[in-house]
Amino acid sequence: MAPRKTVAIVEDERDIADLVALHLEWEGFHTVVFGDGESFMAFMERNPCDFLVLDLMLPSINGLEILKTLRAKEVTASMPVLVLTAKSSETDRVLGLELGADDYMVKPFSPRELVARVKAILRRHGIRDSSIIQTGELEIDRKSKTVWVKGKEVQLTQTEFRLLETLAMAKGEVFSRRELLKRVWGDDTVTERTVDVHIKHLREKLGEAGKMIKTLRGWGYKLI
Ligand code: CA
Repeated sequence: MAPRKTVAIVEDERDIADLVALHLEWEGFHTVVFGDGESFMAFMERNPCDFLVLDLMLPSINGLEILKTLRAKEVTASMPVLVLTAKSSETDRVLGLELGADDYMVKPFSPRELVARVKAILRRHGIRDSSIIQTGELEIDRKSKTVWVKGKEVQLTQTEFRLLETLAMAKGEVFSRRELLKRVWGDDTVTERTVDVHIKHLREKLGEAGKMIKTLRGWGYKLI
């Protein structure tokens, strides 16, 4: 299984925090709940989280201050954040997004919609993560050299892995066979047919997700 993502929930209303945590856990996330900003910030120093669900109205440090602090630190600058707010005033919405919230939800909200939004934001962030590339049902861990399709591990050869990694790192970008030979094989004197053969095997191994590798006649390949 792919490593579970940790979602931190900072919310002083315990019922809401528990409800959000429950729905996220059902969907396979690991959650940690904090009733105030201080305890969350202290935790973050030692335990980086993958996602933050952040309430704005909190005792002492408010949500916007927390967001500002996170964005100013290099390690948390690009951490995905979904803001929860009881206030639907424009000021809060604009402030939240200007300070770098990825999305916001106004209370009362549907926990199921929140989970869907968390997933959508994580997908958007996937490509920016230095280690894990997540796109559609495909997940690639560049550190452990592991690939999952729908959470199930797929065994690839070293060349297949590097081919997939190259395409996934620049999702949507077209690579010519020659370019792929240069990047993956480190040798563009190999016949271009070699690329086609490896792409074919890669597609087969990826099953449904294999359709994400597109052939552009006359151009090469890209991952969508
Ligand atoms: Ca609150």
